[in-house]
Amino acid sequence: MSGDLSELYQQVILDHNKRPRNRGKLPTANRVAHGDNPTCGDQCDVYLRLEGDRIAEIGFDGSGCAISQASTSLMTTQLKGKTAAEAEALFQQFHHIVTTGEAPEEISDLAAFAGVHAFPARIKCATLGWHAALSALHGDPAPTTTESHTD
Ligand code: ZN
Repeated sequence: MSGDLSELYQQVILDHNKRPRNRGKLPTANRVAHGDNPTCGDQCDVYLRLEGDRIAEIGFDGSGCAISQASTSLMTTQLKGKTAAEAEALFQQFHHIVTTGEAPEEISDLAAFAGVHAFPARIKCATLGWHAALSALHGDPAPTTTESHTD
């Protein structure tokens, strides 16, 4: 592993990869979406239980690289309890972090992924779970794939 890559795998990422949060199929889910990142081989299913407009429960299942799994795990901790609009706003912040490397300090856990911006192929890994979660939120019936997104 190069020095740059080891910087990429910071403590938050390692921790979420080792002990993923909210992992496993959510039996009470009323929304589910599949995410697929064929360029890296990452896959995930994101399960939501929506109460009205709010994410009451969230879970995920998947396999793939450390970045994709850690990012999806972290995402579930960030989105639980959020409304659809709040979830969209958080994704915009996260997307900004991973594409520019600029991280506001107040969202420090998401900022762990700032190093991803130096590895463009990894941006798809980092955003895969988020795309799946937003698809689930919107009730998008089609499986989501990073190939349908420009990033
Ligand atoms: Zn990946």
